Amino acid sequence: MAAFEEIHVGSMDPERFRSVLGERFDEIELGMEDGRRLFQGRSIWHINSTARGGGVAELLQSLLAYVRGIGLDARWGVIGGEPEFFEVTKRIHNMLHGNPGDGGGLGEAEREIYERTLAPAAEAVAEIVSGRDIVFLHDPQTAGMIEALLPTGAVIVWRCHVGLDHANSLARAAWDFLRPYIERADAYVFSRPDFIWEGIDRERAFIIAPSIDVFSAKNQELGPEGVTTILGRIGLTACDPGDDGEFIRHDGSIGRVVRRADIYQDVPLPDDAEVVTQVSRWDRLKDPLGVLTGFVRQLDGGNPHLVLAGPATAAVADDPEGGAILEAVLDQRDRLQPDERSRIHIVCLPMDDIEENAAMVNAIQRRSDVIVQKSLAEGFGLTVGEAMWKGKPVVASARGGIQDQITDGVTGILLPDPSNLDEFGAAVRRLLDDEPLRIRMGIAARQRIEESYLGTRHLLNYLQMLRALLERHGPS
Ligand code: UDP
Repeated sequence: MAAFEEIHVGSMDPERFRSVLGERFDEIELGMEDGRRLFQGRSIWHINSTARGGGVAELLQSLLAYVRGIGLDARWGVIGGEPEFFEVTKRIHNMLHGNPGDGGGLGEAEREIYERTLAPAAEAVAEIVSGRDIVFLHDPQTAGMIEALLPTGAVIVWRCHVGLDHANSLARAAWDFLRPYIERADAYVFSRPDFIWEGIDRERAFIIAPSIDVFSAKNQELGPEGVTTILGRIGLTACDPGDDGEFIRHDGSIGRVVRRADIYQDVPLPDDAEVVTQVSRWDRLKDPLGVLTGFVRQLDGGNPHLVLAGPATAAVADDPEGGAILEAVLDQRDRLQPDERSRIHIVCLPMDDIEENAAMVNAIQRRSDVIVQKSLAEGFGLTVGEAMWKGKPVVASARGGIQDQITDGVTGILLPDPSNLDEFGAAVRRLLDDEPLRIRMGIAARQRIEESYLGTRHLLNYLQMLRALLERHGPS
């Protein structure tokens, strides 16, 4: 893979948010007008380490399209690297979440791999960036490029999507590894105040929460027939898919779900099943093994089925642990009693067409009665917001940004200790047994997302931050 590659970004007019926001859109329009004046003639680059799979890629593909939609030059670039680079960055990622990951350290050998990989990527970016531009570098994978980009004169912002509520020694070790790289950034962006590292210059730190794109193939309206068709098409249910299964792409054209998923199940999902779902990368911190075990413990009553859905593991470039975690989930499924195992559906969704993949996630989430996100640590948890937008009751860990999205007992259920599988199972059971509660929570959940987590709010936050940075930098 190339050291650096530009990713095509479409353009979407934020005007479409008027249909959701009504008069509240007027204020947003003013902010965007202001942004257009201020950033005309500048490129706003965002650089991360994968074009698909995971929350950052999800955010960038729509946020940048809206920035382009208001007439600004937003660009997206992705760095490449050898597997050993992504082993190091995955270790850093896990440690920033307070988890040992593969248990390896962060010493001179890791520093050498990290710097050697990023040097050519930084060189490639430095050639195309000018002193009027703004460069956002996302997450630990790109932090090592900051120093080499400073001579371009561009404003350099490091955007950290991961963090933990109470730092531990592992997180501090990862900070120590990254600190020399990030120290000279013009600004930092974190998702929530608790994520700001100890010792970081708070004057330069901004808080911007992520958002979901309610018009994307992942979150757009999809009626029961569309859901049925897509689930039949991917092979999760036995139903004859027929001809539908359409979704609207970012560019306004019509897409169709045509691929099957790799599904591990004894029987297809029955029509009368009560569906409990977790959608996430195959990552130890998403704890799919814990979800499986906790779910199986509360099987009495009704016909509950569990869907664990994630991307086809070879597809996510910066996530080397996915295959092993999926294997562990499949092993555990194999060890269940037959009547337990028949309730479990492990789904690997093809990533060949990212919008088709999104439509599959949309259909699975909409078919679900309860959605769970039992993460042991979490940055923001886009899957939580996606479920809430669809009016689903969510059971999720009181970790990271999940706590900002869910008010316990009102817009979902928070798990104070995600490793407590009995509490998890009991919360799922409580919702399965109480339809009025599910409906009430679902309505409140959707409202919460509409108020605080739409792309327009996100866009304005970025524009306000950039305005502040340009004022600090002086005219150029
Ligand atoms: N996702 C997806 N396809 C999949 C599995 C996950 O599009 O097969 C998406 C999911 O819908 C969400 C994102 O990946 O938009 C994951 O973001 P989140 O913040 O929940 O977790 P992260 O992966 O960033 O840790």
